[in-house]
Amino acid sequence: MIGRVEGDSGESPVDEAEAGEIIARAKRITVLTGAGISTDSGLPDFRGPNGLWTKNPEAEKASNISNYVNEPEVRKINWALRADGKLWANVHPNDGHRALLPLQERGVLHTLVTQNVDELHQLSGIAADKVVEIHGTTRKAGCLSCDYRTEMEAVLERVRSGEPDPDCPVCGGIMKSATISFGQALVAEDLSRAQLAADEADLLLAIGSSLTVNPIASIVPRSKRRGAALVIVNGEPTPFDTIADAVVRGSISEVLPRLIGS
Ligand SMILES: [Zn+2]
Repeated sequence: MIGRVEGDSGESPVDEAEAGEIIARAKRITVLTGAGISTDSGLPDFRGPNGLWTKNPEAEKASNISNYVNEPEVRKINWALRADGKLWANVHPNDGHRALLPLQERGVLHTLVTQNVDELHQLSGIAADKVVEIHGTTRKAGCLSCDYRTEMEAVLERVRSGEPDPDCPVCGGIMKSATISFGQALVAEDLSRAQLAADEADLLLAIGSSLTVNPIASIVPRSKRRGAALVIVNGEPTPFDTIADAVVRGSISEVLPRLIGS
């Protein structure tokens, strides 16, 4: 289950030079990214004044798995919003996503664990097999009863062709975007991969995540306990700033290219 971390988020020093040196020295880097790295791609947030859920309260209902499963009307409204392009803007990777590419080119990127469901890391050029999408992806859809999985666009075509609540072509089950909803467990294999990546890294680089959503936030102290260095880049304080070797605050798409270089 997804839960929140309680923690102290007091001020910590901002140390860009130190962070840059730690990144340059690292040989096996596990990167953990959250919503902050996609903000500059124009991805709307959920609860802000122009948030997806503020403007479409029905979409928030659909984000809870039991509403989604039990209320056909919630599913129909959700599919209609998706088919009309009202849940996701046409977004592209930004300089923050691209700033990670040199890590892959240098062969020091062990794994990229992301809480984001936008596939912008893969679109920026990060190899798909390096990426663990711990909360799934909105660009694919799947059946809640069997392993059937397909491109989101294929399901949206069915919606546009007159199926308000398209079912699974294999077993007739309920279809949903391939994201982890509130009340839904993470994919065990993805969590294991993320934990292994945290254990094997010599640096955990956390970017644009509040690090307050469990269980994935727990890989941060886990990695630190196994001896990895910890660098946090985020616009706001996080509960783990006090155990970090360097904390850098600011706009991710501006800061990250400076920290990683080319
Ligand atoms: Zn099915």
